[in-house]
Amino acid sequence: DPRLQAISDAIRVVPHFPKPGIMFNDITPLLLRPSVFKDAVDMFVERYRGMGIAAVAGIEARGFIFGPAIALAIGAKFIPLRKPKKLPGEVISETYILEYGTDCLEMHVGATEPGERVVVVDDLVATGGTLSAAIKLLGEYHVILSSI
Ligand code: 5GP
Repeated sequence: DPRLQAISDAIRVVPHFPKPGIMFNDITPLLLRPSVFKDAVDMFVERYRGMGIAAVAGIEARGFIFGPAIALAIGAKFIPLRKPKKLPGEVISETYILEYGTDCLEMHVGATEPGERVVVVDDLVATGGTLSAAIKLLGEYHVILSSI
């Protein structure tokens, strides 16, 4: 896709951020270029439109930048998957292992229903640990609901 080059060029690589040795891919320059930002969103919209997607689940925090734009364009609801203790209602949690320590994602109970197709959105996949946790969270939630 010819749009990919401009998208790739708009992502800045910052060495040694947030820690020494880490090459951080910074998507904020892409957000400053509306046509490239739009292309990035459009590519997902083209992929998922018409597929019966009921919800877009965005992973805190950068999944909150791309997720809602995609959700609105495909006519889906938006579900925030948040870090612990941010959501006020009843939640289901998934703890996952990071390189150093653990992290956790939470989702409001009732955000989605059994059988709904959900797309998970984030800005970047590194080890895949965060994305796996999000998928597990949604999967376990659906299993719990289906067995009630
Ligand atoms: P993973 O769990 O796949 O190892 O890491 C992905 C998660 O960490 C995503 O939520 C992503 O936002 C964040 N992350 C890890 N490395 C980077 C990076 O270089 N740039 C950005 N923007 N996010 C990163």
